[in-house]
Amino acid sequence: MNKFQYLEENLAEIRAGIEKACQKIGRDPQEITLIAVTKTVDEEIVNRSIELGVTDIGENKPQEIVRKQPAITAGVKWHMIGHLQSNKVKKIIDKVTLIHSVDRISVVDEIEKRAAQLDRVVDILVQVNIGDEQQKSGADIEGVKGLLTYIEQCPHIRVLGLMCIAPYLFDAEEVRPYFKNMKAMFDEIKREHYRNSEMKILSMGMTHDYKVAIEEGATMIRVGTGIYGARNY
Ligand SMILES: *Cc1c(COP(=O)(O)O)cnc(C)c1O
Repeated sequence: MNKFQYLEENLAEIRAGIEKACQKIGRDPQEITLIAVTKTVDEEIVNRSIELGVTDIGENKPQEIVRKQPAITAGVKWHMIGHLQSNKVKKIIDKVTLIHSVDRISVVDEIEKRAAQLDRVVDILVQVNIGDEQQKSGADIEGVKGLLTYIEQCPHIRVLGLMCIAPYLFDAEEVRPYFKNMKAMFDEIKREHYRNSEMKILSMGMTHDYKVAIEEGATMIRVGTGIYGARNY
């Protein structure tokens, strides 16, 4: 009995789900990047999932990225998806491919400063608080535009798109309007052509609601529980 059998099955199920959602609205599944969210998951299991084809992994804590990275198979792309404090930027800036959770000027300033020191351009997404939920991170539409305007003066930052964590609603269908709003905001911002911004990536959808997110235009989905099982904190 292969103790990682469940991983193979879970991944197959998510991949089938991606295909099905794409088929429903005529999108190419190749347009969707699956980020396997590995927070709290042991390195051995993460590496096994990489053998099974995972190419992108998401973590929400800087210290977990720092701790795990040496033990994880090289070549995989790392995504910082969790709330980020300015004083933690330096820990992860040279360890991740994309920072999904930028929502404040103070974090932008710190990324610009550290990226300049490294003499490179760092790719980010701006996080939107689409449900306007007090306990969640993210900027509102005006805040997003303010950040994008500010970033026009930051030569070491490139904004590749937007990210959101939708409100948790029992019926994933009820989340659809939030994803529709995200897509509308994404298209509007794209038309406005901010310097240092290229609207290419829409990071939305998790285990519970990724199919709806894909139907509404997500290009990156972040799935943890659906691949690794329920988390043990
Ligand atoms: C944990 C997490 C996910 C994955 O959530 P699941 O419900 O386990 O799929 C996605 N995005 C963020 C920002 C997360 O923190």
